[in-house]
Amino acid sequence: MDKLEEIIIVGSGFAGSIMARLFAEQGRRIQVIEKREQIAGNMCDYIDENGIRIQKYGPHIFHTSIESVYQFLSQYTELEPYQLKCEVLIEGISTPSPFNFRTIDQFYNPKEAEELKNALVSYYKKESATVLEMLNCEVDCIREYAKFLFEKDYGPYTAKQWGKTYKEIDPSILSRVPVVFHYKDTYFYDKYEGIPRDGFQAMFESILDHPNITVSLNEDALEHITIDEEKSSLLYDGVQKTIIYTGAIDELFDYKFGKLPYRSLYFEYETHKVKDYQNVAIVAHPTDAQYTRITEYTKLPFQDVGNKTVIAKEYSILYDKNSIGGGVRTILPGTNGVKHRCLSQV
Ligand SMILES: Cc1cc2nc3c(=O)[nH]c(=O)nc-3n(C[C@H](O)[C@H](O)[C@H](O)COP(=O)(O)OP(=O)(O)OC[C@H]3O[C@@H](n4cnc5c(N)ncnc54)[C@H](O)[C@@H]3O)c2cc1C
Repeated sequence: MDKLEEIIIVGSGFAGSIMARLFAEQGRRIQVIEKREQIAGNMCDYIDENGIRIQKYGPHIFHTSIESVYQFLSQYTELEPYQLKCEVLIEGISTPSPFNFRTIDQFYNPKEAEELKNALVSYYKKESATVLEMLNCEVDCIREYAKFLFEKDYGPYTAKQWGKTYKEIDPSILSRVPVVFHYKDTYFYDKYEGIPRDGFQAMFESILDHPNITVSLNEDALEHITIDEEKSSLLYDGVQKTIIYTGAIDELFDYKFGKLPYRSLYFEYETHKVKDYQNVAIVAHPTDAQYTRITEYTKLPFQDVGNKTVIAKEYSILYDKNSIGGGVRTILPGTNGVKHRCLSQV
């Protein structure tokens, strides 16, 4: 690479923004191209008319156990320590996610609960297992418990997220959230966990605030990029350039190698005149609603705006690149009561 040559970085999420900063620090000139109207990728947030910070593309919590990652981001933000708690609504009972020993206490009588907890601890001799491991366990009560969790949560929830029946789903996806064998009720277990004190948006502004970086918003880089197959290189407006592309890889190749099965999200916001809408920040709804989960933003982390709270009901839908501003991609898998097509648009 020519030392003075400009680097084009497509996308201003974590991948694009951090690379932009690292190359800028090395003296390179960077042009960040972002097709949305704001930077920060999926982490974008804003303050709504209630004074509550909302994450436009769904709830994000920063977490890492890698010291250098934490130290790097600490240059651009002060992390408000926060431990995410999630629950799942099963048969009208809100139970911790990942499922823990409280789940067993909630759904079994005391004698059976003790037997099951002892069986899990003595059989696995570790802190957690996947539901798939448990479904194949030779101990009857463990297998029965796994079947219950699978039928009431893992199966229907995953199917809803992917828009498929659970027989069509790759079993490895069901292993994403383990079943834990203790009473700890946090979602992540990393050394560092939190949310930037002034929000993700401000953190990304700070990362990109460098004299060598320019940012162009509302610009679809794919309208400028062509692929020179003979030379195996990328051209920007017909000129060979160093391009770092952080968007959807199938879109870059114009689906020449097929379409990836991305899903997207759709959010409905509601403002409620209550202090607490639900027990914890995120509650999943595997069977009782069309939406997959509800996020209560006043709990992320605790934002006290009086007797008011804002929730977002999250629906999993097909990804549509052409919806305004491009979709929220996920490869898995405030507007007072007004429907707000967040995912795709924004
Ligand atoms: C609902 C949800 C919750 C999540 N929660 C967490 C969490 O709690 N913790 C966590 O660590 N991770 C979480 N993730 C994962 C996290 O969002 C991703 O790991 C992260 O966004 C990846 O960063 P990225 O820069 O690769 O992609 P993105 O954040 O998607 O950024 C890509 C950027 O590229 C832009 N772009 C794409 N194509 C083009 C183009 N042609 N021209 C110009 N710009 C383009 C996009 O507009 C976007 O701004 C969550 C994801 C989702 C969907």
